[in-house]
Amino acid sequence: MGTLTELFAPDRIAVIGATAREGSIGRAVTTNLIADYEGEIVPVNPKYDEVLGLSCVADISEADADMAVVVVPPQIALHAVEAAGEAGVQNVVVITAGFGETGGEGASREKQLREIADKYDLNVVGPNSLGIMSTTGGMNATFGPDNALPGGMSFMSQSGAFITAVLDWANDEGVGFKDVVSLGNKAVLDETDFVDHWGDDEETDVVIGYLEGISDGRAFIDAARKATQDTPIVLVKSGRTDAGAQAASSHTGTLAGSEQAYEVGLDQAGVLRAESVQELFDAAQMLANQPLPENKDVAIVTNAGGPGVMSTDAVGDSDLSMASFSQETLDEFSEKLPVEGNIYNPVDIVGDADIDRFTDALDIALADENVGMALVLSCPTAVLNYEELAEATVELREKHQKPVAACFMGGERVNASASILQDAGIPNYFDPSRAIGALDALAEYNDIQSREYDEPTRFDVDKEKAHKILSRVKERGDNRLGVEAMGLLDAYGIPTPQGEIIDDPEDAREVAASIDGPVVMKIVSPDILHKSDIGGVKVGVEDEDVEDAFEDLITRARNYQPDANLLGVQVQEMVDLDTGVETIVGMNRDPQFGPLMMFGLGGIFVEILEDTTFRVAPVAESEAREMTEEIKTAPMLRGARGQEPVDVDGVVETIQRLSQLVTDFPAIMEFDINPLVATPVGPDEDSGVKAVDIRLTVDPESL
Ligand code: ADP
Ligand code: MG
Repeated sequence: MGTLTELFAPDRIAVIGATAREGSIGRAVTTNLIADYEGEIVPVNPKYDEVLGLSCVADISEADADMAVVVVPPQIALHAVEAAGEAGVQNVVVITAGFGETGGEGASREKQLREIADKYDLNVVGPNSLGIMSTTGGMNATFGPDNALPGGMSFMSQSGAFITAVLDWANDEGVGFKDVVSLGNKAVLDETDFVDHWGDDEETDVVIGYLEGISDGRAFIDAARKATQDTPIVLVKSGRTDAGAQAASSHTGTLAGSEQAYEVGLDQAGVLRAESVQELFDAAQMLANQPLPENKDVAIVTNAGGPGVMSTDAVGDSDLSMASFSQETLDEFSEKLPVEGNIYNPVDIVGDADIDRFTDALDIALADENVGMALVLSCPTAVLNYEELAEATVELREKHQKPVAACFMGGERVNASASILQDAGIPNYFDPSRAIGALDALAEYNDIQSREYDEPTRFDVDKEKAHKILSRVKERGDNRLGVEAMGLLDAYGIPTPQGEIIDDPEDAREVAASIDGPVVMKIVSPDILHKSDIGGVKVGVEDEDVEDAFEDLITRARNYQPDANLLGVQVQEMVDLDTGVETIVGMNRDPQFGPLMMFGLGGIFVEILEDTTFRVAPVAESEAREMTEEIKTAPMLRGARGQEPVDVDGVVETIQRLSQLVTDFPAIMEFDINPLVATPVGPDEDSGVKAVDIRLTVDPESL
């Protein structure tokens, strides 16, 4: 797959299946191209010499094209793509439907399409796509009813119908685009490829998208992190299903839904998420046209008290704050504004304000270095002309280079001023909360841009040993492992308490005697998921009680499930839970984003407390640290209520080491380390973490 530059800026486009037949897609695409496309159009169809006034060739090999649009029926579409590849055409847009979306034969057709693309190294959009547009060269290679206006947004959508709806609206509003792509089934090119391309495209100011799923979450995160260094990405949330999520047998699996993965993954990617189409465009237009704010503090200048209060509330609901003005600013306001006004934020310049007073107030507010951005809020009055106010707003935005949103309220009388604002990239909203929401997106992007991503640390580990332990599932014909897999933790450098699995009461006593102090005894069986649920964990067993405890544990397991596969009893050193905190580190493999790591407050009440946080692995040190800071009970780790702080560094390292484990072994479907006990660092600087319990699900096929 090569660069996508030519896909959006071809010199010669072949339309394979072009026809003049009324109501056909071939006609619609050809007509759309004829409308504005600056390059050459070559219809390809053995049935005609001419199509819609263009001379038609019988075969793609005669077209000398650098892009092909395929609109022929599905049965011959593969042949058309292959012929395009053979003819040296690098870019192919497959509009034809009847592929993966229909299942069965369509699915195998899609697989073949992928193979052909691989063979000829083709950039393929679709299949089942509305087509693509690029306003730079006037190219509308879609069968939609409208062409896009030129602008700085590049737009990808998994729904072609959504594109037609958006364009209808955008054309009305004067909202323009650079490129538009209907992704279709994403057989070859997917969202990651376009993010990559638009991230480097000078003419794309902001990337927006409607996605129903992400093909390869990790690749997307990496591409988006790079692109968002200078190009913001806003995606609208789409209805997602839990399809593909396996029946979870771990705590992490239960707590990590696909919604979690999507949210966390997009956040790690530096993508802004919109909750609605309106939010998508509000944010995108701001991002495409306005300078970024230096801080998150908003000044509101208004000629109406009530809307001023509404806007202040909206700021309260956002991540922005109300700017506090410097003394100098306040003095200037006092000088210029009537005494009935309010010189504090929101600045109320009162209903009789004329254009001069409005301009002065906005100028003063924007000049204050405590002010990062402004909202111009106005209700219609007899002494104010909205168009003059719009012009002044545009000028002052230019003068101060700070983002400005407008809320000129009203109906009909707003229209002329709104288009002056729109032309300058200042959207006008009736509702102040939309204006604040759009400013909020700018501030959020500012934060994203200043993020620094550190590379995940690679620890020195014993992969071979880990592989051996994981492979036990093969011998057992099962896919679950419990504490008998503790060795996995040793292999990855994670401290565990001293302990052994024993199948004889006398040996158990011997092991207990070799461990200082009382011990913990646990039933070991792949069939018993939650040991304490059946009384399968005994804490604080004295040496002389070990044999009885052993018998009792076996009896309990037998009573619970007579045919359970009992591997024995684990005799384990006790860790100090008085000074320690039980945490959980887990992973659940998400169908889109891959390994989703979880950290939280652990113990047997994990699901009830639900104090957890997630990251897509591999997790870098800074991300692991953030995880330990994000949970509600984070203060417990750092020493709340006179407790000594626990070994947070040890926890951070353990999260990273486990992240490496799941990255190294895609066969691990899910796991819980619960509890990972974190205690204060010992006097001789011993690690303060110990993994006390482990449970995992392994896919033997992928080992
Ligand atoms: P399960 O999760 O299957 O019930 P665990 O091994 O996690 O079994 O044990 C349950 C609880 O018992 C832990 O959350 C912890 O409170 C306590 N516990 C288990 N092992 C130890 C240990 N070695 N030292 C101290 N407490 C322990
Ligand atoms: Mg446990």
